[in-house]
Amino acid sequence: MRSLRFDGLELPIRLKVHPRACRIVLRVDPQDAAIDLVVPRGVRLAEAVEFARSKGDWIRRRLAALPPRVPFVDGSRIPVLGQERTIRHRGLRCATARGVVWLEPGELHVVGEDAHLPRRISDWLKRHARDDFTRRAEVYAARTGRPVRRVTVRDTRSRWGSCAVDGSLSFSWRLVHAPDFVIDYVVAHEVAHLCEMNHGRRFWDVVAGLVPDTARPRAWLRDKGGTLLRYG
Ligand SMILES: [Zn+2]
Repeated sequence: MRSLRFDGLELPIRLKVHPRACRIVLRVDPQDAAIDLVVPRGVRLAEAVEFARSKGDWIRRRLAALPPRVPFVDGSRIPVLGQERTIRHRGLRCATARGVVWLEPGELHVVGEDAHLPRRISDWLKRHARDDFTRRAEVYAARTGRPVRRVTVRDTRSRWGSCAVDGSLSFSWRLVHAPDFVIDYVVAHEVAHLCEMNHGRRFWDVVAGLVPDTARPRAWLRDKGGTLLRYG
């Protein structure tokens, strides 16, 4: 991977060629602070890197505006399905009792070597997210009468959820760190797409029938959604 160096920082650059792009698009990925460059076909890497370098001030401002990173290490505090939990790294002898990751009041316990902690926690969170989002989707689907075929979780950056025509729903597992009312809204939104595959008036009527408020969670995602990408 190429990197961009300025101000004593070394930022990884990810280049993606997009045939329909008509200009170079630059963004700072809030998850890993990497520079994403989408370029039209025919643009050389050096040209794209030079473009990023010319936007140094903008990149600096974006980096400064990123919420602090919260790594999955002993002592970190992370919200899990609406509850703050402190990560506790336990000794290996605890492993047999309750698996390798488990919840205690106000805490999330994990066993294993330091190097394995982030992976163990994110794997556990993904499973936990999928199970929880599936339960919520089934409750809403029972109310709309349109069954959910399958729920999967992914690590998407640009969308919190999506709905396929075959009735499969997909969510960003990182919503596991969002408050309850936000998860409810995103799940209800995708379940409502099983009735209305658009964002028309009738679609929003279905969503409003499932959750009490849509403005507050949408505002939360717009203003604070980026924080969800800073855990781990
Ligand atoms: Zn939608």
